Amino acid sequence: MNINGHTGLTGLLGHPVAHSISPMMHNESFRLLGLNYAYLCFDVGEKELETAVNGLRALGTRGWNCTMPDKQRMCLLCDRLSPAAQMTGAVNTVVNENGILTGHNTDGIGYMRAAREAGFDLTGKEMTLLGAGGAATAIAVQAALDGVRVLRLFNRRGRSWGHAQELTDAINAQTGCRAELYDLEDRKALAAALGQSDILTNATSVGMAPHKEGCILTDASLLRPELIVSDIIYNPRKTRLLRLAESAGCPAFNGLYMLLFQGAEAFRLWTGQDMPVDTIKAKYFSGQE
Ligand code: NAP
Repeated sequence: MNINGHTGLTGLLGHPVAHSISPMMHNESFRLLGLNYAYLCFDVGEKELETAVNGLRALGTRGWNCTMPDKQRMCLLCDRLSPAAQMTGAVNTVVNENGILTGHNTDGIGYMRAAREAGFDLTGKEMTLLGAGGAATAIAVQAALDGVRVLRLFNRRGRSWGHAQELTDAINAQTGCRAELYDLEDRKALAAALGQSDILTNATSVGMAPHKEGCILTDASLLRPELIVSDIIYNPRKTRLLRLAESAGCPAFNGLYMLLFQGAEAFRLWTGQDMPVDTIKAKYFSGQE
C-alpha cells in the first residue's frame, strides 16, 4: 500500500476496536482493487466521540464505521440519515461528502445479503426474529424494507421491551411488513410462530462465546426441516442452536457472512466499488463450515 498526499482515510471508531477484522478486510480490498484509501482503528470512548467526529470531518476523511457503544450517538452527529439508519436510530457507517455526514446502517443489509448468498430469498416470506437489541433492530428494519411480509419479534420483557414496541409500531407504520411483538416466555406463541415462519433468526447474544452451551430455543421439537435457521453469532461458528437445526434437518447459516457483507456495503458507500468478497472470504472468513 502506497500512502501519499491523495490517500483517502477511512476507519473504525469505538471501544474496544483493536480486535476488529475490519482493517484487514478493507485494506486488502483497497490493495486488490488499486484504490488509494487506508483504513485505521481509533480507540475512542463515548466521552471523546463528538470531538473525534468533528476532527474526522474537518480533516476531510472519506468516512468511518462505528461500533458499540457509539451507534446511537453517531445518529445524532450526522447531518443526514439513510432510511435504515433513521428507523433503527443507529449508525454503523458514515460517509463524508465535503463536510456533510450521512449516516447509514449496513448491519441489516449485511444480514439480508448473507441470507441471499446462502440461497434464501426472503421477499414475501415470514420471519421469526429472536432479540430486540442493536443487531436485531437492524435486521428487523432491513427485512421489512426488503419485503419480508410478516415479522414476529420475540424478546424477554425487560431492558429492550419498550424499544421493541416502538420498533414494531414503526415497521407497521412505515413499511408494508406486518410486525408483531411477543414475550419470549410465551411458548405457545413461539410454537405457533415457528409453525408458520419460513426462517428463524437468533439475534440475541445467547450461545455466544464464552457461554457457548447457551441456547435460546429450549424446545428442539419446534424445528421442522422446512424452517431455515440462522444465528447471527459467529463465535462459535456453529452455536448450539445451529447444531440443533442440523439434527432436525433444517437449512442453516451463521453470522460470519453478515459481518463480511455489512463491511462490503460500507466499502461500496465509500468507494463506489464492490468489495472483492470472494478473495476476502477465502482469506479472512474461512471456516464457514
Ligand atoms: P445487544 O444490543 O446487547 O442485544 C442483545 C439481545 O440479546 C437483546 O435482545 C437481549 O435482551 C438478548 N438477550 C441477552 N441475553 C439474553 C438471555 N439470557 N435470554 C434472552 N435474551 C437475551 O447486542 P447486539 O449488538 O444486538 O448483539 C447480539 C448478538 O449478535 C451478539 O452475539 C453479537 O456478537 C451478534 N452480532 C453479530 C453481528 C454479525 O455481523 N454477525 C453483528 C452484530 C452483532 P434484553 O434486551 O432483554 O437484555
